Amino acid sequence: MENKDKVIKKDKLAIVVPCYNEEEVLKIASAALREVLDDLVQKEKIAEDSFILFVNDGSKDRTWELIEEEHAAYPVQVCGLKLAGNVGHQFALTAGLITAKDMSDVTISIDADLQDDVAVIEEMIDKFHAGNDIVYGVRKERKTDTFFKRTTAQGFYKLMELMGVKTVYNHADFRLMSKRAVEQFSQYKETNLFLRGMMPLIGYQTDKVYYDRKERVAGESKYPLKKMLALAFNGISSFSIKPISMILGLGLVIIFFCILAAVYALISYFTGSVVQGWTSLILSIWFLGGVQLLAIGLVGQYIGKIYMEVKQRPRYNIEKILSGEEE
Ligand code: UDP
Ligand code: MG
Repeated sequence: MENKDKVIKKDKLAIVVPCYNEEEVLKIASAALREVLDDLVQKEKIAEDSFILFVNDGSKDRTWELIEEEHAAYPVQVCGLKLAGNVGHQFALTAGLITAKDMSDVTISIDADLQDDVAVIEEMIDKFHAGNDIVYGVRKERKTDTFFKRTTAQGFYKLMELMGVKTVYNHADFRLMSKRAVEQFSQYKETNLFLRGMMPLIGYQTDKVYYDRKERVAGESKYPLKKMLALAFNGISSFSIKPISMILGLGLVIIFFCILAAVYALISYFTGSVVQGWTSLILSIWFLGGVQLLAIGLVGQYIGKIYMEVKQRPRYNIEKILSGEEE
């Protein structure tokens, strides 16, 4: 019975595409994604009224006009969401996902520039039907990448790991999320968004699909190095208070060294090979330095706790309850 229902009611897919000054790629992206939708509808994997949701992130060019044109030409398949100003990729994507969740059963987020392979969308849907709530698009290790790009990226993932931030290796923001996963995500009210770090907190069964990341179809990157570094710092500072603990640790280490230095200074003092006043001076410098770091680290621990508290993140996500009341 349940199976039959499933065949009749197919899942409605929403593909969410954040766009900032993407006039050069918009029509190409729209055509490519519509083709994917048509194909999946034809294979009866998604509902016929599945759609693409272009999110215009305060573009200064003709992006929004083009979205309007596409919507006029394909009223069901192409929808648009216009943000009042530029809020950045992570926020634009969040706006799109949260809007799309009320209009669909499952969402896939993808960049407008088609760097992520649209061909694996079908595999994502298959994995969704196999019971996964989140399917991460993971970029295969690319030999063609420049040495610089590869090492900086790997360094970034290693640093995140070291700082205790759980992320999916080589996954950007190309991912499938079920309606309930987006619903749970919308409970995270924090303003410092780092989606890649937040999604693994949701839980549920997840899987990955692998693809080769291509060059941009047209236009240029909207993510200069400055924005990338900001994202990386935001990722760490939004998820981890380890840097504060490190200060605390450093304070302790310095106080330990101070004890060693005290022994050394006293020996020097008694052997008489020092300038007058040096012993007390050097000891107070080390000791006070250590105490100060310790105190900063300690205060930091409390601030870190306040920081975590004010985020008001959900503390858990209940997937199922087995009880007597179940039918
Ligand atoms: N983007 C956005 N708002 C911004 C910057 C970028 O919505 O302020 C979108 C952009 O249109 C694209 C995606 O985020 O769809 C990723 O940007 P881009 O491809 O330029 O980044 P890169 O792939 O170079 O890291
Ligand atoms: Mg890109």
